[in-house]
Amino acid sequence: MPELPEVETVVRGLRQTVTGKTIASVTLNNPPSTLIEWSKSFGRNKFVGSISGRTIEAVNRRGKNILILLSGDLTLWAHLKMTGHFFLLDKKEPVGKHDLVVFELKGKNGRMSKENLRFNDYRRFGRLRLFPNEELWEQKGLATLGPEPFDISAKQFVDLCQSTKRMIKPALLDQTFIAGLGNIYADETLHLARIHPKSSTASVSVKKLTELHRHIQEMLRFSISKMGTSVDSFSGVNGKPGQFQKYLKAYGREGEPCSKCDRPIVREKIGSRSAHFCPRCQRPGRSVRQTIPG
Ligand SMILES: [Zn+2]
Repeated sequence: MPELPEVETVVRGLRQTVTGKTIASVTLNNPPSTLIEWSKSFGRNKFVGSISGRTIEAVNRRGKNILILLSGDLTLWAHLKMTGHFFLLDKKEPVGKHDLVVFELKGKNGRMSKENLRFNDYRRFGRLRLFPNEELWEQKGLATLGPEPFDISAKQFVDLCQSTKRMIKPALLDQTFIAGLGNIYADETLHLARIHPKSSTASVSVKKLTELHRHIQEMLRFSISKMGTSVDSFSGVNGKPGQFQKYLKAYGREGEPCSKCDRPIVREKIGSRSAHFCPRCQRPGRSVRQTIPG
């Protein structure tokens, strides 16, 4: 699933290419019923009728969410989920069966653009939501998001971890705890900070939590500079894959030697997700074995 650096890559791609353009028309290409939702306040106008004619004013990110701000105080809120993509393609390119929504665009000069924007999603878990700005932040999935990793100081991050007693890996994946991280960057940063993924957030030392905070910020920045990680199908708006997969040290490296100690990386199911870690560098702390009251 695309995580913060991949979503940021898409946001930057969209910002550069479609900001200032007007959505002239929208074609739905048999999307699943879960793909599109809109505010009840639109009544019979629904999605296509409410979005057509709006100008794209800005493109922003919050966690793994893409927020496309439209004229008339509406926001198109997109979540890529597993395999969602935005592609800007020449109109001559045939619309494929996974191009579920096609946005025809018009430039500032009123001329139709040669390219259209497509929301492509072969696994079909993606989401496109259209809401008036005043309703947007009440929506489930946005209302309860945790802090952005770049907006939180080391001290705030340590306080956040110490405020709860949860296994650290599932906590990092929880978007209400901290927004934007997923399996790849949680595994990678825990490996760098030498923290066992099952450690309790409250029991990891302040020193290690401070290191983890630094690694999270540095790794996300570096990955954004590499246009994210393409281990599955991820690519930017221009169709180019990211390059950060070349730098992975733990994620997806089960059985390969740890970059620090040569011991093989192991994979273990923690919560509902696979965690990849080095059993030597990331030793379980006391916290894992101790019973946590309550
Ligand atoms: Zn190791």
